[in-house]
Formats: sequence, C-alpha cells, structure tokens
Amino acid sequence: MRSISIFGATGSIGESTFDLIRRAGGAEAYRTVALSGARNVARLAEMARELRAEVAVVAHEEELPALREALAGSGVEAAAGAAAIAEAADRPADWVMSAIVGAAGLVPGMRALRHGGMLALANKESLVTAGALLMSTARDHGATILPVDSEHSAVFQALTGEDAAAVERVIITASGGPFRQWPLERLAAATVAEAKAHPNWSMGSRISIDSASMFNKALELIETREFFGFAPEMIEVLVHPQSIVHALVGFRDGGVMAHMGPADMRHAIGFALHWPGRGHVPVERLDLAKLGSLSFEAPDPARFPALRLAREVMEMRGLSGAAFNAAKEIALDHFMGGGIGFLDMAGVVEDTMSRLSSECALGNPPAGLEDVLAMDHLARVRAGELAAKRQRGR
Ligand code: NAD
Ligand code: MG
Repeated sequence: MRSISIFGATGSIGESTFDLIRRAGGAEAYRTVALSGARNVARLAEMARELRAEVAVVAHEEELPALREALAGSGVEAAAGAAAIAEAADRPADWVMSAIVGAAGLVPGMRALRHGGMLALANKESLVTAGALLMSTARDHGATILPVDSEHSAVFQALTGEDAAAVERVIITASGGPFRQWPLERLAAATVAEAKAHPNWSMGSRISIDSASMFNKALELIETREFFGFAPEMIEVLVHPQSIVHALVGFRDGGVMAHMGPADMRHAIGFALHWPGRGHVPVERLDLAKLGSLSFEAPDPARFPALRLAREVMEMRGLSGAAFNAAKEIALDHFMGGGIGFLDMAGVVEDTMSRLSSECALGNPPAGLEDVLAMDHLARVRAGELAAKRQRGR
C-alpha cells in the first residue's frame, strides 16, 4: 500500500488531491501519514478521519485545542505550529503533495525530499525561492520531484522520452487573466474582487490575484528555469485566453509538442499521483470541435511588468528568487488589505529588488536553507517599508 501525505490539504490543490485519493480508493488504497492545514480545523479533521491519517497538523498553535476536540476518539494525532508541520514532513511517505501557499511551503517540501520518495510540487514558491537547493536535495537523496503546476506538468509530459539536448525552446501559456483587455489607465483602480475573478481556473485567492497581475506567470518563468534547467532565453510566455494548451516544447528539428487539457488542476495532480503510469482521472474531456478555435497573442509588457522583473531573477539566480517572491507576497498582502493599488504591486517588488541589490549580493548562491530564509525575511521587511511609503503617497 502506497503511503501519502498532503501539506496544504484544506486548500484548492489540497481538496482536489483529496478528491482524487478518495476516488482511487481512499483509506482502503492509501496509507495516509500526515495532513496539514492552516485555519480550517473542522475540514482538516474531517479529511484526517476519512483517510485515517497518522497525524493532522494545523499551522497555528491556538487552534490545537479545537483540532484535538475535532479528532477525539479517531486515533489521529493532533499537532500544531510550523515546527510540527516540518516534523510531520520528516515522517516517511512514498508520495507527498506540497500544496501550502507561499514560502511557508518550502521547509516541509525540503524535509520530505530527504526520504527519497516522490514530491508532487504544487508550491511553486519552493522552486522560486530555493530552486538550486531543492533540486540538489532531491538528487542527493534519490527523490523525484513531479511538477504539479499545470504548465510545468505539461512541459514534463511533452519531454517524456525526448532528449533534453534537442530542445530549442519552451513556451508556457498564460490566460492573460481578467484584465487582458482592460484599458491600461483603468488598471490602477482595479479592485481585489475584480482581480480575484479568474476567467478559466478556480484557485485560491492569492494565486488568482497573482494571475491577474501575471506575477503568477513571473513565478512560473523562474520555476521553469529552475526545474528544467533551460537557459532563460529559451523560455517564453504566450497568452492563450482559452487555457487549453498549457505548454509547448519546440525541438531543433522544428517540431513542437503541445500539451492540451481542460483547465482543471486534477489533471496535473492526477498525473503526478499515478506517475509513472497514467490512472483514470475524472476531468471533463476536451471537445475541440465545440471549442472551434484557440487563439494566441504575445504578452503586453506595459500591462504586465512582472514578466520583465522575473527575467532579471532568471539571469541572476542565487538569492534573488527568495527576495522576489517575498517582496511579491508582501505587495500582495498590502493590495489585499486595501493599502496599495493593483499596479503598485509591481512597483513595490521593483523598488524592493533595487533596494536589496544596493544592500547585498542578490546573485550569491545560498549556502543553505538559512540563507534563503534570511533573505526571505529581509525582503519582507524592505517590501513592507516600501509598501507603507506608497500607501502614504496615495
Ligand atoms: P489555497 O490558498 O487554496 O490553499 C493553501 C493551503 O495552504 C491551505 O491548506 C492553507 O490552509 C495552507 N496554508 C496557508 N498558509 C499557511 C501557512 N503559513 N502554513 C501552513 N499552511 C498554510 O492555495 P492553492 O490555490 O491550493 O495553492 C497552493 C499552492 O499551489 C500554491 O503554491 C500555488 O501557487 C500552487 N498552485 C495552485 C494552483 C491552483 O489551481 N490552485 C495551480 C498551480 C499551482
Ligand atoms: Mg500554473
């Protein structure tokens, strides 16, 4: 029986993973080691009971009594706090889903890699903040990372059986988000509710807003660079409003392999769950005749400055990804809290990156996780100061 753990079980990716595990036989087919969540204690306990998990962990200590109560008599251990999440990741499992949102997902993913199993990686922030460390940890422990971001799963699938040396370019697609056709001057006043309304995908709030600003695609450019190791100039973004083609890989003979699928994360999650085989996944089947046409366009650099900022990180590498991601998370917090405008998010990230470049060598490779976490912390402080300055200026 395969053992599994899900970190971020109560989120959008976590729920989809749970759904697939349940359809594949649930507790009869999988031995669940650990499930984690941040705030939704009742839902976490319900999932842990159903899968008969060894341990359920909430992110915040103050929720521990409520979790204990919800698990009473179930035989599931209850734990709380970031250290307990990391400890749960130390418990060996054959297949681990990393679906916590933000840099908080880095440590559990890194710890899980140390037992050499499979890490299904939805938490793109891990690769952005500590790509080189994550990949070398996987190599050193004989672990396999399976990308769960739809574009990266698509590239992974298009590369199966191919010679990576024959790849000329990799293209990841972007829907363009809700603001693709908005007049530029309207963007500054875009609200949180407008930014959250993704046209094609149903996702957590944070990644939905990141899609509207294309910070999500910016993270994915860096993720592509770090995971597959292709040079930055080989990696492109293509706007494709229907979100049917998720990525394309072009080879030196001119051939291009495109990956298509419905805009449903259960495809990429299911691919990782059943890899190296293919299991049955209950997503809607594509009907291209019904769709009629697919369209593509180049991304507008004026509308989406995040893509330009990502290019700098792809070149610089080292600690720059940790700085970029942390600045983005803080800028997003301030936008969601109403303190800064939609376009200010890119402004805060750009200001933070240039401030940090004058303070330290952002391109230096981290010696270990501590360096990454220290940069993450410093960038949060700087981005907070710069966001507060913009807030006062509004
Ligand atoms: P979500 O907000 O729906 O869920 C996040 C999960 O993390 C929840 O279980 C939440 O309780 C937990 N969490 C939040 N903060 C935490 C903290 N500080 N410590 C511990 N746990 C915490 O997010 P999501 O949309 O499911 O995305 C999860 C990850 O997958 C993100 O990295 C995102 O970029 C990536 N991803 C998501 C999608 C998607 O379609 N939703 C697609 C591709 C990649
Ligand atoms: Mg994606």
